[in-house]
Amino acid sequence: MTTATCFDGQVLTPGDAGYDDARTVWNAMIDRRPRMIVRAAGVADVVAAVRLARELDLEIGVRCGGHNAAGFAVPDGGLMIDLTPMGGVLVDPARRRARVQGGALLGALDRASQPYGLATTAGNVSHTGVGGLTLGGGMGWLARQHGLACDNVVSYTMVTAEGDVVTASRTDNPDLFWGLRGGGGNFGVVTEFEFELHHTGTRTLVAEFDFRAEDAVPVIEGWRDLNAAAPRQATFTAGVSGTPSGPIATVGFVWVGDPDDGRRLLPAMRALGRPVASRVTTPSYLELQQREDSTGGHAYRRYSKAHYLRSFPTAAIEAFLLRGACDLSAGLDLPGVGLQAHGGAIAEVPEEDAAFSHRDTMFEFGAGSRWSDQAEDDVRMGAARAAGAALEPYASGIYVNSLTADELADGQRGVRRAYSAAKLARLTAVKTAYDPANVFHLNQNIRPAQ
Ligand code: FAD
Repeated sequence: MTTATCFDGQVLTPGDAGYDDARTVWNAMIDRRPRMIVRAAGVADVVAAVRLARELDLEIGVRCGGHNAAGFAVPDGGLMIDLTPMGGVLVDPARRRARVQGGALLGALDRASQPYGLATTAGNVSHTGVGGLTLGGGMGWLARQHGLACDNVVSYTMVTAEGDVVTASRTDNPDLFWGLRGGGGNFGVVTEFEFELHHTGTRTLVAEFDFRAEDAVPVIEGWRDLNAAAPRQATFTAGVSGTPSGPIATVGFVWVGDPDDGRRLLPAMRALGRPVASRVTTPSYLELQQREDSTGGHAYRRYSKAHYLRSFPTAAIEAFLLRGACDLSAGLDLPGVGLQAHGGAIAEVPEEDAAFSHRDTMFEFGAGSRWSDQAEDDVRMGAARAAGAALEPYASGIYVNSLTADELADGQRGVRRAYSAAKLARLTAVKTAYDPANVFHLNQNIRPAQ
């Protein structure tokens, strides 16, 4: 029997039509060539792919949205399980539940839920995968109201390293359920997520105020202080970017709910200083969820550094505005930096409830470079590293999905920043129970006990 006859979905090998498309992921720096790509049509294909990879001793990569910047989805010379054909979402509006296949993109979840005025926490870019995002935690504009994406999963269906199909929920394999809520792709291939949905309506408001970066320390101090008392419908945002007229600091918020309620925050924002420009828009929820799709688009080379910040003192604000360089006139070549507020319902989930860590985060910081010419790799990556290093003294940890390949290559240092020692010990126990041979290691890897 040839491998092609074992699967309902396509099997692609180098040279096949579609092979290059299937191995291409979001970060154009990733150029790896799997020996075989199984485009899984269903759970049986995932089971067969895991068993085949083990039989042939091939490294496994699991692809959902392909957004992991380190390219974990694509194993060089290995077997890639491409879940994208499994992209369906089924909404039960009466029970407020969505059954989401393991290869679905966030946009599919939002599009299926919004006709009923329902939604659940999903990330800011609609072409990100539900799989990788939710398994790492999953931050989005609804998280301060309803918790992270992983806090809204009521059950998982997963294919183990042995090729068995198991479910995990609060009552069924509760240790696995705990680990899957933030532990990444370490335990198996999730073929279905069952999410709780919320009545969110369809209306939102986005407010942004631009200030000259050199005037912005008191502005960001004031914005930080307003954040502490902000209603949960608001997620505060800030960023610094280069423009032809010099670096601009933008502060504001995204509001999910009645825009008129969100407008009540505008006078306090306007009073932060004298903005050089401002924008207040009222996109629909679906428009909001696609608003960053093109800035976060494919086909660019990418590198970013991130930290969680539990506090944001003035010295950190100064470093944030400088973006890793002291010379503001060099602004156009510096990476963009941004902050997104956490808190609210995220922080209310008891710390021991899930593998996800750092629920006391105030803001997530990110510094990202985007370019096209391979010759610029070193300088662009160096600039993002410098911006990340400038904020490191204030960091309280890192989002596991933000770990870079170099941070992960350094032993378990990366995952130790993402999880507390106690959580790492519990994650190791779950890993040892479900994947003692570390078959699933192309991820933010939790090593099984020897
Ligand atoms: P993939 O590269 O397909 O998968 C990444 C890894 O996840 C895989 O290698 C595998 O280990 C695992 N995996 C994926 N699916 C499965 C599955 N079904 N079963 C088992 N393992 C699986 N994060 C946020 O929290 N909020 C955001 O708003 C946000 N915005 C982003 C915007 C952009 C443009 C990008 C590039 C990333 C963003 N992220 C965000 C980070 C994102 O959560 C991670 O990049 C995540 O890995 C993306 O998942 P994916 O399925 O698209 O990636």
